[in-house]
Amino acid sequence: MTTAVYPGSFDPITKGHLHILKVGSEVFDKVIIAVANNPQKKGFLSVEERVSLIKESITHLDNVEVDSFEGLTIEYAKKAGAKVLIRGLRAVSDFEYELQLSQANSALCENIRTVFLTTKPKYNFISSSTIKEIYNNGGDISKFVPQPVYDFLMKRR
Ligand code: ADP
Repeated sequence: MTTAVYPGSFDPITKGHLHILKVGSEVFDKVIIAVANNPQKKGFLSVEERVSLIKESITHLDNVEVDSFEGLTIEYAKKAGAKVLIRGLRAVSDFEYELQLSQANSALCENIRTVFLTTKPKYNFISSSTIKEIYNNGGDISKFVPQPVYDFLMKRR
């Protein structure tokens, strides 16, 4: 049984993230999507809000669990019994940072491998920061985020 952890900020979760998660859930036996809690960084949404919006957005995925963690991702993955870290790649610009991160993680624990997945081309340009920018300026984010995130943000506006 192979467990994979998909770590990230997910502030908020987007359709790009969701597609990566769906592919991950088809490839691995179990996927834990884990929201990184960085107390130094004030997020757009609280970690609790992010976790609960992810839960509402993944009811169609049976083998996916949601969690949050503080500290090193690799330590969290070890405790969770994961053999794989999933990261998403959008463009060449993601590559350098992600490569460095995966090499640092494998230097810390060589038994946990990073696997890169890509999303559908139509979700490729989406990032949480682009969504926040569009939302903060009154634009329509309905095409980019799962329905529960859309409903939550519309209420908040
Ligand atoms: P982080 O702060 O760790 O980069 P994010 O929530 O921004 O967290 O992203 C988590 C992961 O999902 C990263 O590997 C990122 O490259 C990937 N990702 C984000 N948006 C997309 C997208 N639209 N398509 C594919 N991968 C994505």
